[in-house]
Amino acid sequence: MSGEPAPGEHPRELAVAFRTLGCKVNRVESDNIAAELLGRGCRVVDEDEAAVIIINTCTVTAEADSKARKAVRQALKAAGEPVVVVTGCLAALDAEGLRALGDRVVVEADKEAVAARVAEALGMRADATAPAARTGEGFRTRVAVKIQDGCDNFCTYCIVPYARGVPRSRPADEIIAEVESLVAAGVREVVLTGINVAKYHDPEATRLAWLCSAIARETGIERIRVSSVEVPGFGPEMLQAMAFSRQIVPHFHVPLQSGSDRILEAMGRHYTAEQFHEILRACQLIRTDITYTTDVITGFPGETEEDHAGTMELCEKMGFSRLHVFRYSPRKGTPAAEMPDQVPPEVKARRAEELRALDARLRQRFVESRLGQTVEVLVERVEDGVAEGTTREYLRVRVPAGDTRVGETIEVVLEAGMIVRS
Ligand code: SF4
Repeated sequence: MSGEPAPGEHPRELAVAFRTLGCKVNRVESDNIAAELLGRGCRVVDEDEAAVIIINTCTVTAEADSKARKAVRQALKAAGEPVVVVTGCLAALDAEGLRALGDRVVVEADKEAVAARVAEALGMRADATAPAARTGEGFRTRVAVKIQDGCDNFCTYCIVPYARGVPRSRPADEIIAEVESLVAAGVREVVLTGINVAKYHDPEATRLAWLCSAIARETGIERIRVSSVEVPGFGPEMLQAMAFSRQIVPHFHVPLQSGSDRILEAMGRHYTAEQFHEILRACQLIRTDITYTTDVITGFPGETEEDHAGTMELCEKMGFSRLHVFRYSPRKGTPAAEMPDQVPPEVKARRAEELRALDARLRQRFVESRLGQTVEVLVERVEDGVAEGTTREYLRVRVPAGDTRVGETIEVVLEAGMIVRS
């Protein structure tokens, strides 16, 4: 009898590991690659047990670049000398630099081709089998679905359009079919995700709001959430869609970036502070249950104390339920990196701190406004008699589980002690 393991018995055979950096779109894309590899018979394991490690990179800041390179170096040192397949935005912008990190590095910027490259590295046949459903162990009750890729806004601080290319939308019927299969597998909430979902536009002239309606109507999914939407993708059309489909949850993340028109213009954002305020408030006057969260960048080149005060004031006036605060950092290859009047780091740090303090106040105010109300919680986890899940307005809560099961929606009267993340 030979000492060689039989096919399928070798511990590293068809074993792959993932390390995903950056945004939600990267996570969806890694899930899709994992689904395709599971469909081909692979197993997803820890890095030290893998024959191939897939690193899905981000390049949004210089720090993201160094994290990606560090991840590749660490993967090369994992036990068993795995092949390291690198994809994602840094792979699109600096394939040569990544290849130079080691002989076992394979760079594949095209995410659609990653599974085939991994299969090749594992010595598998190149033909694809049906992707496995993105549910079950390792996947979630709430699943992100990618509806588009790319952006042509070219905000002056952002490298993403150079890495991701122009907007491309998935056909609506393909998205609907994916959501149908997720519903059949027990998924209760989908999060529509993309690089700039406001650019969603399929050949049948379907836009984002109508895509949401069509998904609601055709699939019957319990909740549809839009992950992050630029101002042009949000407005009366979305309100109309929400009027017919309660499944579209009334929480929208709409990036503001700055409350100063001068800075918005320098950033290449195509709205004024007043337009942002008018559009979002008008929707809220009609649908009083709508809540907004946002992103702001502080310390953009040329930002004065007056500009910063304008951002603080607008955020306060908007009553966001959460602010994500980012300190501007110059990204090589973008126009803003070459702009004069870069803001000193200590000024950026102080402004970021002020914005974070405002975020804490706004969150507190929002939570207090909801206490005592009946909210719906979609349960994503039950452990030790405690059920944890998210409300329609994206509060993360924990309640006694009773006989509640994962995937159920329960109604609870909101108390402060239940909230684990606002
Ligand atoms: S909208 Fe602006 S910030 Fe967002 S991906 Fe496009 S260029 Fe980057």
